[in-house]
Amino acid sequence: MNLPPELVELAGGAVDTDALHARYLSERDKRLREDGNAQYTEAKAEFSRYVEDPYVEPGLTRAPVTDEVEFTIIGGGFGGLMMGARLREAGFEDIRLVEAAGDVGGTWYWNRYPGAMCDVESYCYLPLLEELGYMPKHKYSFAPEILEHSRNIARHYRLYDNALLQTSITGMEWDEATQHWMISTNRGDRFATRYVAMANGPLSRPKLPGIPGINDFRGHTFHTSRWDYAYTGGDNAGGLTGLKDKRVGIIGTGATAVQCIPHLGEGARELYVFQRTPSSVDVRNNGPTDPVWAASLEPGWQAKRMENFNILVSGGDTDEDLVHDGWTDIYRRLTGNAAKEASRRLGRRLTREERGELMALADYNKMNQVRARVDEIVKDPVTAAALKPWYRQFCKRPCFHDEYLPTYNRPNVTLVDTHGQGVERMTERGVVVDGKEYELDCLIFATGFEVGTSYTRRAGYDIVGRGGKTLSEHWGEGLRTLHGLTTHGFPNCFFLGFTQTAITISVPQALNEQANHVAYIVSQVRDRGAAVLEPTEEAEAAYVQEVRSLARMGRRFYEECTPGYYNSEGAKDNRAGFFSDMYGAGPLKFFQVLEGWRATGEMPGLEVR
Ligand code: NDP
Repeated sequence: MNLPPELVELAGGAVDTDALHARYLSERDKRLREDGNAQYTEAKAEFSRYVEDPYVEPGLTRAPVTDEVEFTIIGGGFGGLMMGARLREAGFEDIRLVEAAGDVGGTWYWNRYPGAMCDVESYCYLPLLEELGYMPKHKYSFAPEILEHSRNIARHYRLYDNALLQTSITGMEWDEATQHWMISTNRGDRFATRYVAMANGPLSRPKLPGIPGINDFRGHTFHTSRWDYAYTGGDNAGGLTGLKDKRVGIIGTGATAVQCIPHLGEGARELYVFQRTPSSVDVRNNGPTDPVWAASLEPGWQAKRMENFNILVSGGDTDEDLVHDGWTDIYRRLTGNAAKEASRRLGRRLTREERGELMALADYNKMNQVRARVDEIVKDPVTAAALKPWYRQFCKRPCFHDEYLPTYNRPNVTLVDTHGQGVERMTERGVVVDGKEYELDCLIFATGFEVGTSYTRRAGYDIVGRGGKTLSEHWGEGLRTLHGLTTHGFPNCFFLGFTQTAITISVPQALNEQANHVAYIVSQVRDRGAAVLEPTEEAEAAYVQEVRSLARMGRRFYEECTPGYYNSEGAKDNRAGFFSDMYGAGPLKFFQVLEGWRATGEMPGLEVR
């Protein structure tokens, strides 16, 4: 490293960066595997029980729907709810929400595991707080409160009216003669809709590890996103009394596992945590909402707070930090903010090399602090060593939790470190690691969700556009959109979420921007007396080109990361990583692009007829 001393100090001091870099690469190499993304098992056929809805009464019957609506929203998570809210505000009345689950809430409907909570500050994360006149109970809300808030949004904006719950789409075709989409469902519905918004979420299909013998195990199993409280007892707040005489295993130590393991440790007679790669776990510091602070807030406070948070976590420039938590800390220290502060101190712009070195050094220091925290908390040195993450902070989802690490001091909790190799196989009785069998009564899969498989596979159906072309064909060589929201040949169809849009850590803010943009477009189409919109081939091609050229910037970073869904499980080209097909210049720039586009009043690149 050749950084000037004041920058070394700013980045937290000198460390042996060569040694750390070498360790990171060797930990990555240990985990790289030929089968990459293909290592996972799809939750279908003999594994379909892992994705059944445990929260509804089975046996719903209703008459098929065969009518016509103006706007269909597919998915009742935050994306669909925000879309519905913005459409109502724009005066659209004829809306139908379709949702596979028994209620709205999306990820908060499915993920009810003990300890589930949002890890982004609730005052920013929960949408439409001022519109609904609601103040979250804690700085970081627990899942039941977020689910209830989702329901309240649906009630407030009348999104239950005309909704089809417990209904999965099975087909969607454009009918050129009527200029409508025809939608079919697993309940025999076949209805027409002028517009469709796809809000099916980026992490919605649970995945299972492809472990030999997975179906041989005779004990009880489930995935964290379908928590079986009938078996474990308790609820989101813990109290898993059903496990008090059970030997429980959990596979996975990602963001989900970090939240539920403390409750499993408390409830189970014995808990075995099978770890392949440890998470980075920093301070959480949750607490109840201060009523005096809440009462002092002026109208417009949420938008202001969200914007401030988003600027900080997008590398933007502001001295004010309203949220002031682990997220803003790492973004301030490790991203463009740090480089700007360094420029101020030096009184000149940093060179590219200096900028890269500064951020790398700050990262090594930050991760040293995260690793030191493990030593401070976990008493057994072997366990502590195994719990230390050896990769850069943003290689995997950073976690923040105050009870996770202390759980390993409990006498009934054992960390089974698989040294990056994962579980070897399963038997009738339990799990085998390194030739040793761990006998279990129950095994929980905290193994995450499909990323990197095709969009239509994750949606569960293909979309047939104009002229019979399918979306899987159109996107066969990668996503093709204008601003991530519309695609050529698929008129009046909007894609919400992370299809060539920009992501921010505060996902609802990104969804809000998208929903506002879509509501603007359809209002314009309505006001012009038109009925059909579609991006031109040229506008789509230009946008795809822009997204692909921006994507090159992050490739080197992820190449050096330990495998995971952020980097296509370590694949060299990283074409299917979580961020690979997003707008690489970041959310601040992306939101400006959308705003600038609207400001022209011309809807450039969109053909309206
Ligand atoms: P992840 O994909 O992050 O984690 C899956 C875990 O399973 C990893 O630890 C992985 O290890 C492990 N695993 C997979 N296969 C094997 C195997 N064969 N043997 C052993 N271990 C294995 O899923 P999560 O559900 O934890 O989180 C998914 C995402 O959901 C998060 O990244 C986050 O974006 C979101 N989330 C958000 C929360 C919030 O508070 N807002 C809370 C929870 C989740 P390895 O790392 O080695 O691949």
